[in-house]
Amino acid sequence: MSGKIRFAPSPTGYLHEGHLLSALYVWAAAKKWGLQIHLRIEDHDQGRARPEHIAAIREDLQWLGFKWQSESIQSAHFDSYAKILEALQQKGLVYPCYCSRKELEEQNPKNQYGEIIYQGKCDGEQPLDAPHSLRIKVPDKVINWHDLRLGDFAENPKLQCGDFPIQDRHGCWTYQFAVCVDDIQESITHVVRGEDLLSSTARQIALMEILGRTDPPKYLHHPLIVDASGKKLSKREKSHSIREDRDAGILPQELLGRVLFKSGLIPNPAPASLEYALELTSRQL
Ligand code: GLU
Repeated sequence: MSGKIRFAPSPTGYLHEGHLLSALYVWAAAKKWGLQIHLRIEDHDQGRARPEHIAAIREDLQWLGFKWQSESIQSAHFDSYAKILEALQQKGLVYPCYCSRKELEEQNPKNQYGEIIYQGKCDGEQPLDAPHSLRIKVPDKVINWHDLRLGDFAENPKLQCGDFPIQDRHGCWTYQFAVCVDDIQESITHVVRGEDLLSSTARQIALMEILGRTDPPKYLHHPLIVDASGKKLSKREKSHSIREDRDAGILPQELLGRVLFKSGLIPNPAPASLEYALELTSRQL
């Protein structure tokens, strides 16, 4: 098989153990399936991205021994996002939404992931001179897609989340929009990421279809690191970064062993080489 997979962290903080597990899955998949690896720094949210975190992503990955073939950063794509938005607007596929966060919460039902299902209140409203996000009109149709680990899904984004924002009230490009444009323009053939992004996949396939890509990437959503009680990593554990461990003198092999242990891939937190960690992760694919 040939193609391209991406690792796409957001520079809104330092990399943590959850990112390391994702990286192991991405690199293991690349090795197993013969894919090029692309590092994409997802700094679409200019309010939260920090230069020190951008630099740290590269440094921490290199320190751990990961290598990649190409690299991009979303802020270099903003002109191209704007052109694509203009084309969507000309087709009448985008509308401003003036609802506040509170109104959105109060006036819309929620899906099983706790996200609102936007009911289209601002669709067809007269334009106002007021803060607004921009929503894309999603077609009312079922998206059938296959996860390489979890099997088949049939989801209708119109019912699952409704028309969703492609630009937020502060003028920032949203994750959903930026990731779709980039996965198309960077010719990404495989997306391997955590299960926390499972709910995004159908809407991303729908958006990519609107943008003209009808053969979506292949998807695999991997399990997340859980604590002893089976809960996802807490905010506190997430804020505990690879950088801190590194500064405290912990070696890459110890950190890799810890992540393998926490994800149930080895019975004890014994040090592991990157090669061994990738070999073990590869067996999960
Ligand atoms: N930037 C996203 C994150 O850090 C990941 C995007 C993706 O893999 O689709 O959670």
